[in-house]
Amino acid sequence: MENEKIQSPQKKDYDKIAMWLINMECNFHCPYCFYDDSQRSMKTRLGDWVRKKVPAINPYKTRFITPDEISRFFDGIGKRWWIMISGGEPFVYPKFVDIVEKLSQNHLITIGTNLSLPIDEFIKKVSPKNIWSFYISMHLGERERQCLSVDELLEKVKKLRAAGFRTEINYVMYPPLIPRFKEVYEKFEKEGFKLEAKVFRGQYDGKSYPQNYTAQERKIFYDSIPSEIDRAASFENLSFLGVPCSAGNKLIRINPNGSITRCPHDHENLGNIFQNKMNLHDRIKKCVVPHCKCTLAIKEGCVDFMKRK
Ligand code: SF4
Ligand code: SF4
Repeated sequence: MENEKIQSPQKKDYDKIAMWLINMECNFHCPYCFYDDSQRSMKTRLGDWVRKKVPAINPYKTRFITPDEISRFFDGIGKRWWIMISGGEPFVYPKFVDIVEKLSQNHLITIGTNLSLPIDEFIKKVSPKNIWSFYISMHLGERERQCLSVDELLEKVKKLRAAGFRTEINYVMYPPLIPRFKEVYEKFEKEGFKLEAKVFRGQYDGKSYPQNYTAQERKIFYDSIPSEIDRAASFENLSFLGVPCSAGNKLIRINPNGSITRCPHDHENLGNIFQNKMNLHDRIKKCVVPHCKCTLAIKEGCVDFMKRK
């Protein structure tokens, strides 16, 4: 039976946000990855194969949780969470589809993925009803290195849309890939998708980015950076040091080892999912770290953007 009536929700309806960095394993090896490991896709495949035989071998120290354990953890708190799952690549995590299927019964979910792995099982098992979105990173250079094409990605996002899932697609402005942005943008636009430009931060050809984008390069993609907050976070070093922020109460970060921290930048320990423990702040506290790139916390109102330093 077709279930064409069920779609990703129109309204974000949640009490609290969990940014769950589920793993560090990834089948891609992008040159600008925040986690630099030249052997990563090989280790991911090898780890995946060996783990079935020798569970202790785990190069990234990721701890694996079962669908029942993680849904018990979130359901036990008695709130509705918006759980944003990213990695690494979440689709290489054991039983990932079942984890999302369980969690999405009571919570809102976003999945950050390179969308290079098969999605048919996901579409078959998971209803879009509580899936806020797929946040898809194109990573064009690495995608093509793995013999996957832009067209293959386009077909997958069309498939997700046809099944009722919202998709958001981003394109990293790695300097050698800037000239291709327009062509890829137009290809997706023709099919009703709007690509988001994501600034590259790092070194390329002896130059630091984003500082060294030329005016002409910026012109190609500046208007495709989704919001004022994203633009500020792309080109400025944001700081909210000393400003009240509800991260630690309204928002948490979960790390691959299960530890819970206030946010991606403030590592104050607030518990661990494997111990079924979470000690949220009981009041709003000031930010105590010098830099913040947490656009989600800003967009969702944890901290006042106008008070940035
Ligand atoms: S897909 Fe993401 S996590 Fe994987 S290598 Fe690329 S940037 Fe890193
Ligand atoms: S302002 Fe940013 S860095 Fe500071 S606590 Fe909030 S989310 Fe974390």
